[in-house]
Amino acid sequence: MPTLTRAEAAERASLVDVESYHVDLDVTGDGETFRARTVTRFRARPGRATFLEFEPAEIASITLNGEPVPPSAAADGRLVLSGLAEENELVVDATMRYSNNGEGLHRYTDPADGSVYLYQHLFINNGGRVLPCFDQPDLKASFRVSVTAPADWTVATNGRLVSRDGGRWEFAPTERISTYLASLIAGPWHVRTDEHDGLPLALYIRATLAAQLDAQAAEIFEVTKQCLDRFHEMFEIRYPFGHYQQAFAPEFNFGAMEYPGLVVFRDEFVPRSTITETEREHRASVIAHEMAHQWFGDLVTMAWWDDLWLNESFAEYLGSRVAAEATRFAGTWTTFAMQRKAWGLRADQRPSTHPVAPAEVADTDQALMNFDGISYAKGASVLKQLVAWLGDESFLAGVNMHFEAHAFGNATLADLLGALSKAGGRDLSGWAEVWLRRAQVNTLRLEVERDGDVYREVTVVQTAPDGYPTLRPHRIGVGLYDHVDGAVVRRELIEAELDATGRTVLPELAGVRAADLLLLNDGDLAYAKIRLDDRSAAAVPLLLPLLTDSLARAVIWAATLDAVVDGERPVAELVTLVLAALPVETETVIVEDVLRATRGLVDRYATEETRPAALELLAQAADRLLAASPAGGSRQLIAARGLIGATVETGRLAGWLAGEGLPDGLVLDEDLRWLILYRLAVLGAAGVDAIEAELAGDRTATGEQWAARCRAALPDPAAKEAAWAAVVGDASLSNRLVELTAGGFWQPEQRELLEPYVARYFTDMPEMLRIRSGMSAEKTLAAAYPAVMVSASTRQAAAGLLAEPEVNPLLRRVVQDNDDDMRRALLARE
Ligand SMILES: [Zn+2]
Repeated sequence: MPTLTRAEAAERASLVDVESYHVDLDVTGDGETFRARTVTRFRARPGRATFLEFEPAEIASITLNGEPVPPSAAADGRLVLSGLAEENELVVDATMRYSNNGEGLHRYTDPADGSVYLYQHLFINNGGRVLPCFDQPDLKASFRVSVTAPADWTVATNGRLVSRDGGRWEFAPTERISTYLASLIAGPWHVRTDEHDGLPLALYIRATLAAQLDAQAAEIFEVTKQCLDRFHEMFEIRYPFGHYQQAFAPEFNFGAMEYPGLVVFRDEFVPRSTITETEREHRASVIAHEMAHQWFGDLVTMAWWDDLWLNESFAEYLGSRVAAEATRFAGTWTTFAMQRKAWGLRADQRPSTHPVAPAEVADTDQALMNFDGISYAKGASVLKQLVAWLGDESFLAGVNMHFEAHAFGNATLADLLGALSKAGGRDLSGWAEVWLRRAQVNTLRLEVERDGDVYREVTVVQTAPDGYPTLRPHRIGVGLYDHVDGAVVRRELIEAELDATGRTVLPELAGVRAADLLLLNDGDLAYAKIRLDDRSAAAVPLLLPLLTDSLARAVIWAATLDAVVDGERPVAELVTLVLAALPVETETVIVEDVLRATRGLVDRYATEETRPAALELLAQAADRLLAASPAGGSRQLIAARGLIGATVETGRLAGWLAGEGLPDGLVLDEDLRWLILYRLAVLGAAGVDAIEAELAGDRTATGEQWAARCRAALPDPAAKEAAWAAVVGDASLSNRLVELTAGGFWQPEQRELLEPYVARYFTDMPEMLRIRSGMSAEKTLAAAYPAVMVSASTRQAAAGLLAEPEVNPLLRRVVQDNDDDMRRALLARE
């Protein structure tokens, strides 16, 4: 779809006021297209012209206020209308195209049973792929949907079902919602229903995953109900969209999407194989995240994409918070500290960094690119800081005032800040300026002066990166930990308000007996890069395994990983710490994240010479962890996955695949089998025949995805060429298959074979962008980047592309960011 600029949207909003859409879809036909008849009612300034987003395959008829409009009025993704009346009725009857990239109306055929499923995803600017519409967030309207579908299908939308007659489905008009939030699923879905507090609940999944959903539905419903109750305690306006349905859809680009009344998740959230506690916790926090959006985003919507953060930061913050407060997954803030915040910090230090709340997002393309770790994780982290600063009561009071004032409408950052300032009795404009309007991150470190065993003075020093001189106020915890009788316990926690001068002395610590470990940012309130003092850093290998507080361990791990990323500490030291501390780690999310992050750092930060030894140590750490993990638990499975990914012992892996020598309690299910086969493929110890044989026994969507990834990973010139050609030029491949093919392609073990493809990335990706767009294109660009080919020549090739006058902005951004990552890796290697 063509991009919509901020200026165009503002002008259109001043001309037009949309009342309703009645969309009547016929999805009974086979093949590439469906029929859509849409009646749009809107008011306008008489005599003026405007346009709707619209991308039909073929137009049957268009009438405006009863008068025919020539089909030529629709061109280049827009339908231009002139001579508007005060009250207008636009009727458009057209044939539209299905998509296979997750945007518009995505059509999916399940390879396991041949069934077809559809889901609609209009975000950010794909409304015109399904219906002619005024596709911008501040032109809200009521949606009424009618669908003619095959008789054995189930159809669901945002709105309540009014009637069903065979394949004909009629739904009630919705409340006023933004176009990007209009939702629909259709297909032979397996359905589970329940009810809570007067709200009908439903879950949908494709038929071949029915048994998995049945096994997990009780937990999903329980979490849903607990979160609903918690939101109803926090918010004065009750859940406003009538019913709460959650669908798990195939090949969904996002983790999930917050459509009012019908949330859609990627169906990987209901895995067919063993699910770990980490994955269950993640699912719970995503359920809470999407539910938070029902208020933040759906009830009150940003006026334009400048305030995308307003949606995502709040949902991210409340997702972690409500899951922790209302469900059995109490550790979501540990996960946040480890994973999400690291994502935000990384994004914030890349060349593409931007303020949480940019003053102006020029168009929808730019908005899509801002859909990153800054809008989600940094924003959420900053909000956590704001709540600490403002107090929870004031925060919730402000939020409720905001909902009350803008329900079913739109709002801006200024509106929210006004409500929060009023509720808190504290002017937030200065706070907002440094935290929301300015990019980049500060580093906090401790400067410690001692007299023998007593602190003379402890100072928190705040610094800013080059080019971004802003220092910020922080509220932060500092924990004093002592090593006592084989455990590390917190003697004291002090809270300090840091001002923006750069140096804050902590008077409480003068004359206090020195701790064995002084933990800056204890409690993880701050959004900052954290560095320990030298004495504490030196004590980490000994003390970390003995620390009982998992959030404190997460803060230390995060700081340690970040210091390696920055080249301040060598990756070899990290691997040694992993070997010492990880086998006794009990928090599964820490285990999982440390293994994953360390593996990534070994691949890029270790040199050709040092990498095998580092990988061997990592495999050893995973192996020890495996031996120390209870049989059949999540930690055992996570350790096994870590070991499989790092080991080069192909004999042992082949044995496991044959069912020999597996640790007690480890279930060799389909996905663990594929993971082993994938590693064997990377190492050249399994070939096409083994992949095809595995696929023959698992002809499912997941099986096909694994097979594509395995084929791309083979150290074989023909396999590489085929995979690359598919990524660059095969438009028939769905979004998910492209992503996984690209994801299997680059392997640090295969440098020589892959060398020619470094240059080809820069020549071929513009080609790829001719057939892929939006989120799918962005994911493909990132997955296909030669990130493991760390060398000056890769950087030169990147520089060559960036020097060209006309570079696609999405490609430019991916290359700039990845090149900057490589710059860091090369520096660290020196
Ligand atoms: Zn969200």
